[in-house]
Amino acid sequence: MNDAKSTQTTAAQTGPRTEAEHTEHMKAVQADMRAKLDAAREKRGLIIVHTGNGKGKTTAGFGMVARMLAHKRTCAVIQFIKSSNDAVSRLLASPNLHWHHVGDGFTWDTQNREADIAQCRAGWDLAKKYMADPAVSLIDLDEINVVLDLGYLPVDEIVSALREKRADQHIVCTGRNAPAALMELADLVTEMREIKHPFNTGVQAQAGIEF
Ligand code: ATP
Ligand code: MG
Repeated sequence: MNDAKSTQTTAAQTGPRTEAEHTEHMKAVQADMRAKLDAAREKRGLIIVHTGNGKGKTTAGFGMVARMLAHKRTCAVIQFIKSSNDAVSRLLASPNLHWHHVGDGFTWDTQNREADIAQCRAGWDLAKKYMADPAVSLIDLDEINVVLDLGYLPVDEIVSALREKRADQHIVCTGRNAPAALMELADLVTEMREIKHPFNTGVQAQAGIEF
């Protein structure tokens, strides 16, 4: 059996392979996957963070919600910042989906900090309600990372509560600039990194792509 090092070396090769190299590579991949599948025995709720300056953080969170709903599990989505995802909420609409939008009026050009903070607090109160509900399998806290980055909710309070979360519940936290303490606590952290975005060449937000 190949050790992890040789598997990594083989897997790192890019470009066309000879037949013999391909066979050796596939054997190494198979051994590596079997070892990983064998080692992965635990099943538990995760804290998931989607952050970074590239596109796809919110979309990936909604994707997980859609998967959960497909498994007939109950989900809650709390959108902390105004954004046009009403079409998505209508598509996913189900008795198993609780969808809240607490950020009405909270945008990049907001002029009322106190009102924004009050809305974030209301959103977090809802989150705590769902965190206490064993029927809820996944909670998507959309843009909470931005809320924490702005200081609209205290990082310590939110991270402490997440640390004590139910073992059978997944919590997704999306948004740019996720605080270090949240990423440290999380089980799964993905950074979307911008390589190109059409907005930078004057293309506006379009149906299906952005909302
Ligand atoms: P999406 O909602 O498409 O999954 P996101 O959640 O990763 O994107 P946000 O940071 O929440 O992105 O920004 C929301 C909006 O800004 C989206 O309409 C998105 O297309 C747009 N956007 C995302 N990344 C960029 C970028 N790098 N430059 C300009 N606009 C962006
Ligand atoms: Mg987003």
